[in-house]
Amino acid sequence: MTNSCIFCKIAAKKLPSKIQYEDANMVAFDDINPKAPVHILIVPKKHLGSINDLNSQDAELVGKMILAAQKLAKKKGIDQSGYRLVFNTGSDSGQVVDHLHLHLMGGGKLFKFDG
Ligand code: AMP
Ligand code: ZN
Repeated sequence: MTNSCIFCKIAAKKLPSKIQYEDANMVAFDDINPKAPVHILIVPKKHLGSINDLNSQDAELVGKMILAAQKLAKKKGIDQSGYRLVFNTGSDSGQVVDHLHLHLMGGGKLFKFDG
């Protein structure tokens, strides 16, 4: 737990959030400023700044985060209509919270990246 980190505080229940899923390794909660009808953040309990901080020991954790997103997509009924998973990394991506998080977005047409 990093004292100044907002997602460490949410994971430790020191800040409120609308939790959608939790297990020993991660917590998933509604984004406070949703950019899609379904917008959930999947957040490891361990503090990692971004994808840049991962090493081979974190591979299982990241795999489990993606599987949690898959299950949440099904729970929210968007697994067939479609969804997007995003890890913003660094300033050009717009990352503002420096604690690794996976965005799950869906429930409506999403902006298409087409170059
Ligand atoms: P990123 O730009 O990838 O760093 O995304 C950070 C996300 O965290 C944004 O979509 C914010 O709306 C969201 N966010 C920031 N603070 C909170 C909070 N307290 N609870 C839920 N979501 C938050
Ligand atoms: Zn943190």
